[in-house]
Amino acid sequence: MSNIVAIVGRPNVGKSTLFNRLLERREAIVDSTAGVTRDRHYGKSDWNGVEFTVIDTGGYEVNTEDVFQEEISKQVQLAIDEATSIIFMLNVEEGLTDTDYEIHEMLRRSNKPVYITINKVDSAKEEIDATEFYQLGIEKYFTLSSATGSGTGELLDQIVKDFPTTDYKDPFEGLPKITIAGRPNVGKSTLTNALLDVERNIVTDVAGTTRDSIQTLYNKFGHEFVLVDTAGMRRKAKVSEDLEFYSVMRSIRSIEYSDVVIIMVDATLGWESQDMNIFGLAQKNRKGIVILVNKWDLVEKETNTTRDFEAAIRHKIGQFSDIPILFISALTKQRILKAVEMAMQVYEDRKKKIKTSKLNEVMLPVFEATPPPAIKGKYIKIKYCVQLPTPSPQFVFFCNLPQYVKEPYKRFTENQLRKHFGFTGVPIEVYFRQK
Ligand code: GDP
Ligand code: GDP
Repeated sequence: MSNIVAIVGRPNVGKSTLFNRLLERREAIVDSTAGVTRDRHYGKSDWNGVEFTVIDTGGYEVNTEDVFQEEISKQVQLAIDEATSIIFMLNVEEGLTDTDYEIHEMLRRSNKPVYITINKVDSAKEEIDATEFYQLGIEKYFTLSSATGSGTGELLDQIVKDFPTTDYKDPFEGLPKITIAGRPNVGKSTLTNALLDVERNIVTDVAGTTRDSIQTLYNKFGHEFVLVDTAGMRRKAKVSEDLEFYSVMRSIRSIEYSDVVIIMVDATLGWESQDMNIFGLAQKNRKGIVILVNKWDLVEKETNTTRDFEAAIRHKIGQFSDIPILFISALTKQRILKAVEMAMQVYEDRKKKIKTSKLNEVMLPVFEATPPPAIKGKYIKIKYCVQLPTPSPQFVFFCNLPQYVKEPYKRFTENQLRKHFGFTGVPIEVYFRQK
């Protein structure tokens, strides 16, 4: 379970500069795969080996004066709902403004740990200027130069030290965790209610990460799982909040808690960029995925309607294409049991471990028959393979010249794994290593 650090503050104080600095180190190592679209407002970082998620809340910076205040309150509310820790960033160049006071007031009323951070403190002079911020009535602040990185260490030391200790006992340890994500009004609540006609909510209220997260046990028709639902997900989107950025950011925490993400799409609207963003989040976090096209009762059907609709979605989601897509109606309960069964199947596939002997027995002949193309007259020989003991399937293939194994062959390998072992709806990682 990941801790989430959100950065809030007025435009131009340096939020995205800090955000990029926090992500840089890690993305260089982890996100080296070509074709991974980088979300500019969300990412993973770590400090002294402690991993956390960072959100830059300044996703929508609208620069007209009147919507300004409203926009900032939304960003702060997002941080209060979703984050474990909040970095409130101020700018020493501009000094304190009315907006800063208002943000501070909102944060003060929340129960989240807030780190008041004065940015653009590039030298000793600004260090003195920063004392102005004591006017907020605070006892402590951090000074930072996001541009050079100085001060970051002290800030992160404190944040990481304050992360809630995980003596929290998950009451549903070991049960599949599922979240239903999607745009506002696609039918998430309708589906949830249809599944849980006997409601049994367990509110897990533990300081920090799990606060405001509701886990509901489902146990029917031989299936048992937990629906995960966070404060942000439950917050009914106001019309003005119906912005892509916020509803995507609001699903981060639920997605991170879950094993399987059900992405709900409105059949009358089709697959849009926001669905793509939620899909990207689930994929990046290596979660199992099921796509449900809801409100199918509203669609006028002809011979190929389902097939065409499915093809259109598959075309948009691209290479990772064995994701189950089901057409349902949460309202009439059509095929919702099928949807549950599919989510369970994906859950099982995600945690499936292939025995090393079996893996080698199947894959080595595949490589024998279709070896990687020789490069500069050098032949690549894959010697053996193992599955790693990770929560989602990851495989290591040992060979003589791993640097010569290119993207198309990695995809070929992934497809062969899917073909022989079946990993429906589950992201797979394959690595080639020297041996
Ligand atoms: P955001 O709107 O809060 O995300 O702010 P940005 O990160 O886009 O930064 C706004 C401007 O401030 C940019 O021109 C940055 O280069 C500059 N900036 C950010 N951090 C620092 C800093 O530590 N020192 C100085 N001097 N400039 C900074
Ligand atoms: P949420 O915002 O994603 O939780 O969406 P809701 O569950 O509140 O549903 C939004 C609206 O869509 C409500 O008026 C529902 O009655 C309606 N709705 C949900 N599922 C279906 C469906 O399968 N068919 C039809 N016709 N309407 C649906």
